[in-house]
Amino acid sequence: MSVPLLDLRPQYATFADELRPKLEKLCADQTFILGPAVEEAERALAAYCGTPFSIGVSSGSDALIVSLMACGIAPGDEIVTTPYTFFATAGAIARLGAKPVFVDIDPVTFNIDAAKIEAAITAKTKAILPVHLYGQLADMASICEIARKHGLAVVEDACQAIGAADAAGKRAGSFGDFGCFSFFPSKNLGCFGDGGLVTTNDEAKAKRVKILRNHGMDPQYYHHLVGGNFRLDALQAAVLSVKLPRLDGWTAARQANAAKYAELFAEAKLLDTVQLPSAGTGRHVFNQYVVRVPRRDDLVGYLRAHGIGCAIYYPVPLHLQACFADLGHKEGDFPEAEKAAAETIALPIYGELTEAQMREVVSAIAAFYAA
Ligand SMILES: *Cc1c(COP(=O)(O)O)cnc(C)c1O
Repeated sequence: MSVPLLDLRPQYATFADELRPKLEKLCADQTFILGPAVEEAERALAAYCGTPFSIGVSSGSDALIVSLMACGIAPGDEIVTTPYTFFATAGAIARLGAKPVFVDIDPVTFNIDAAKIEAAITAKTKAILPVHLYGQLADMASICEIARKHGLAVVEDACQAIGAADAAGKRAGSFGDFGCFSFFPSKNLGCFGDGGLVTTNDEAKAKRVKILRNHGMDPQYYHHLVGGNFRLDALQAAVLSVKLPRLDGWTAARQANAAKYAELFAEAKLLDTVQLPSAGTGRHVFNQYVVRVPRRDDLVGYLRAHGIGCAIYYPVPLHLQACFADLGHKEGDFPEAEKAAAETIALPIYGELTEAQMREVVSAIAAFYAA
C-alpha cells in the first residue's frame, strides 16, 4: 500500500455538489474580480479568525508583502523573524528592501525563540514577524509584550495556522497588527489555486491594506499610495466560503490523526527514536506533522522507496540560502534551526488518512530502524 503525503481528492468529493452551482453562477455572471463573493468570504474568515476585519489577497506571500507595506516598511528597516520557515516569510521582507534579522528557534516547537528576540532589536528594527510553524502558535504573549515595549509592529505569518489558538482560545492572526494567511491548496484551508488573507483588529489598517491591494487606488484612478495587484478573485472566494464551515471538522481529523500516531509510535516502541511534535497548551492545527529522527536522509530515502509520502520542511534554513549571502551568515549562526533542518521529516497527516495507512507509515519507520 502506498501512502501519499497529501491527497485532496477525497475532501473535494465531500463539498463538490455544494460548490459547483456557486462556481457556475459566477461563470454565468462573468464576475471574477473582488465583488460580493469576496466580501462574503472576508466576513466569514474575519469571524473565524476572531478579528473585526479581513482583506482577501492573492496569496500568503502577498499577504505578507502588503502587510509590511501597510506598516510603512522601507529600505534599510530591520524585521526580526525566524530562519526556519518557508522562504516567503523572509522573501517578503527582502522584496521591500528591508533586512531580515534572524533569531534562532525553540527546538521543541520549531517557532522563533521569544527569549532571544530582544538581543536582536536595534534602532533600525521596525517589526517582529513570527511564524506559527506547522500549525502551532508562536509564543505570542511574549512577542507582543516585547513589541509593545520597543514600539514595534507585529505581523503574524499564520499561513500554516488558520484556526490555531492559544490556551485561552485566541486565534492565529488576532494578536498582531496584521495576520497573514495562505489558501495554497496544501494549507488547512486551501482554495483552487493561489489565494490569501490579511486579518487585523484595526479599521484604519484594514482600509490601508484594502487600498494597497488594488494599486493604492482610492477612489478609482486616484492614487495616494503605490500598491499592487494583490486581489483575491471571486472563484477562489466561493471555494473558501463553501470550505470554511467544514474546516473545524477537518482540523479535528488532523488532531485525531496526530493522537493516533502517538499511540502507534508508542505501540511500535519508537518513542526513544522518533521525537513526536509537542501539542503544547493551545490548539495545534497540524498543517504538518513533523518528527525529529536519527539518520534522517536515509529514512527519507527508505520511505520514498517504500511508497510512503514524506517531505522535508525545510532542508536549508533561510540564513544559509544563496540569495541571502549578503547578510553574511555562516553555518553555526542559528544552531537549532540548522539541527531542525537536518533532523526533521513531515509525515502524512491529512484528515482523510485511514488508520491502516497510518499503521503502514509507522511500520515502515519501525522496519527502517530495526534493520
Ligand atoms: C505557504 C506559506 C507562505 C506563502 O503562501 P503562498 O500562498 O504560497 O504565497 C508563507 N509563509 C509560510 C510559513 C507558508 O507556509
